Amino acid sequence: MSTKTRDPAEAEPLSGEVRRRGLMLVLSSPSGAGKTTISRRLLERNHDISMSVSVTTRPKRPGEVHGRDYFFIDPTEFNLMVNRRELLEHAKVFGNYYGTPRSAVEEALGAGRDVLFDIDWQGTQQLRESARTDLVSVFILPPSAHELERRLTTRAQDSAEEIARRMAKANDEMSHWSEYDYVIVNKDLDQSVAAVQGILDAERLKRERQVGLTEFVRGLQAGL
Ligand code: 5GP
Repeated sequence: MSTKTRDPAEAEPLSGEVRRRGLMLVLSSPSGAGKTTISRRLLERNHDISMSVSVTTRPKRPGEVHGRDYFFIDPTEFNLMVNRRELLEHAKVFGNYYGTPRSAVEEALGAGRDVLFDIDWQGTQQLRESARTDLVSVFILPPSAHELERRLTTRAQDSAEEIARRMAKANDEMSHWSEYDYVIVNKDLDQSVAAVQGILDAERLKRERQVGLTEFVRGLQAGL
């Protein structure tokens, strides 16, 4: 098995203090499994994590804000971004194109801030290939098929045809659960938020993510 690890001392030889490289926390699930609510709760509780705002070619839904929910762009602009390698990953989902702008993510990670992603399995696969050491992936499952259907129908933001399409797609999305680092069955929202928070707290302490540890321990040993 080849695991790429960074040597913290090599990355920051002179600092003497322990800092942290940010991580990429991906939450994926079929629509209606509660991912959006969990994301919102996490963002409220953690001020050093920000949401990656994707670009999409799909039409804006009522209540959505350009620059907050998505950057709504046309297919020509989307293609330009792909060709200029401005997207960290991109995929076609439900007939529309979605992608993650690269620069905001790279800047945040370098500054020690975490980034939360609401992207599908295709995007997660691409991030796993290009940024495995920075990636922490969590798959959220609904407690039952009945509950999934109920949540999708009461959302009422989409047409009946769209809901039916999403139900069909949910099975496809769910078949990728085993590619993720962590899996949560969202029976209780508070418990699921606490579970993701636990994952985040532990992953932040991973040795490879802490920059300057070697120097710090040398300092401790030298009585500094
Ligand atoms: P919605 O249109 O309902 O906001 O999102 C539909 C699906 O697209 C969701 O499963 C969401 O996770 C996924 N998605 C949103 N943004 C991105 C992105 O930038 N990349 C990828 N690969 N999927 C995305």
